[in-house]
Amino acid sequence: MNKISKSPEYLRIATEEAWAPADLLKRWRKLLHDKSFHDPGFLALWGFFLEQDVGYTNTMVEKLVDLGAGRIADMDATGIDRQLLLLTAPGVQVFRDPAEALDMARASNDEVADACRKYPERFSALAAILPQDPVAAAREMDRAINQLGLNGVVINSHTHGEYLDDPRFWEIFEAAEALDAAIYIHPQAPPPNMVTEFAKRGVEGAVMGFQVEVALHTVALILAGVFDRFPRLKLVIGHGGEGLPFWLYRLDYQQKVILANRGTKLAHPISEYLKRNVFMTTSGMGWEPAILFCQQVMGVDNILYAMDYPYEFNAEEVRVTDNLPISDTDKKKLYQTNAERIFKLQATKQ
Ligand code: CA
Repeated sequence: MNKISKSPEYLRIATEEAWAPADLLKRWRKLLHDKSFHDPGFLALWGFFLEQDVGYTNTMVEKLVDLGAGRIADMDATGIDRQLLLLTAPGVQVFRDPAEALDMARASNDEVADACRKYPERFSALAAILPQDPVAAAREMDRAINQLGLNGVVINSHTHGEYLDDPRFWEIFEAAEALDAAIYIHPQAPPPNMVTEFAKRGVEGAVMGFQVEVALHTVALILAGVFDRFPRLKLVIGHGGEGLPFWLYRLDYQQKVILANRGTKLAHPISEYLKRNVFMTTSGMGWEPAILFCQQVMGVDNILYAMDYPYEFNAEEVRVTDNLPISDTDKKKLYQTNAERIFKLQATKQ
């Protein structure tokens, strides 16, 4: 790989960079072998990453757990100044026992906060929480942000097939809004009642299942009135907004034609919530037409750079982003200042 140098113009902040504690992966391996654990999406995806010896998977798992020299060397090779670390999907949400999920969320947040303290110029991180217990989740969010200094929250989408549009989870949104903490909704494999048709074709993960799953989750939150109730809530989604920017016109049109006649009452068009409350990253979408389109329809203040390391580790995608035909100001927003604003990272290069 041809090394990419640092840019004198901007910091490259990558905002959807995955990691996993070794202990969490050990527990996931146990679930893979536990005959009573039925989650076809998890079994297919992590069966592949943790049990298949195909070279790519071994390297990937090593890179996931490394919060030290190896990760920093990869960042240096691709010109990444800072990674925003997220506990990889499905995080602690896979555990049936909320006590185990809480223990693992706390341990993960402590470990990643240590790495951020050790490499303050290179790492920031989001807090993992357990939607299984919304009260404990809100408490851990507060601890991770106010005591550990983390920069927001990651939720790996559905929890055992339940989506956050169910009001029983809204204590999480109330806490996030009060803390002014952005929530990154990261995909995981679709839940059992959705995944079958994807899994039998091998597309339950990043090929297709992820995009469909988070796009549905995001629209579900809008339709449930989450942003009418919590107007200052900030969500972040990846992968070029999981296709939603391309659907803006159709979503608004069908909201008037279909949803209004089915009793959905919202204060605003769907596109307005997507522009006001939802920020989008370029993770896994190092493709000029898609990035430019997202900036055009969502606004240049709403799109953030991400690499999706280590699942995507590709210097060419950084070159594509460096060479986008946009102004220097807009490029700095994409790479640096939008991330600093949304995740309250300390600005280090003016
Ligand atoms: Ca990712």
